[in-house]
Amino acid sequence: MLTPTKIKIHKAVPDQKESGDFADCPQPVYDVLSVVLATDEHRSLSTYKFRLLFKKKISHRKGRRTLATVKILSPQERLISDGADILIVIDWFFWMGNPEKQEPLLFHELCHLQLDEESNLVSVGHDLEEFRAVIEKYGDWNRDVLPFAKAIKQFDLFELGEKTNAVITAMEA
Ligand SMILES: [Zn+2]
Repeated sequence: MLTPTKIKIHKAVPDQKESGDFADCPQPVYDVLSVVLATDEHRSLSTYKFRLLFKKKISHRKGRRTLATVKILSPQERLISDGADILIVIDWFFWMGNPEKQEPLLFHELCHLQLDEESNLVSVGHDLEEFRAVIEKYGDWNRDVLPFAKAIKQFDLFELGEKTNAVITAMEA
């Protein structure tokens, strides 16, 4: 008999604050995180403490809109935060305007975090423009670079069946 996936509930900080363009995320954002942390791909990260912030200002890097960033906090930063291990900053406008893309966005961000051979948390870059794991799970969630995928002829790297419209996304997240 299959045991149901246990979802560890990640909690928003009780006293949500704002500072400049940044604001603590409310509980619904942590609820999406909890779902993503219950996936096979990311379950190993579920014991870490996450702090999620919205950024209420659109920013770009190398001409692409930054939808989210993820950072492993230093010991010093952990002290002055609420003991969080990992900080994720999310473009508030993107989050509010694209409810169907919230889960793949957080799934993508967590792909930047991996455990090394000694079980230390390390950050990693994209294996391609988009993580293969994200495309396999969500397909073309941020649809915008079919031409790019065709151009580099990497398409048959992915055996996606129904998701053959999946492409490597051009977003920066
Ligand atoms: Zn990324």
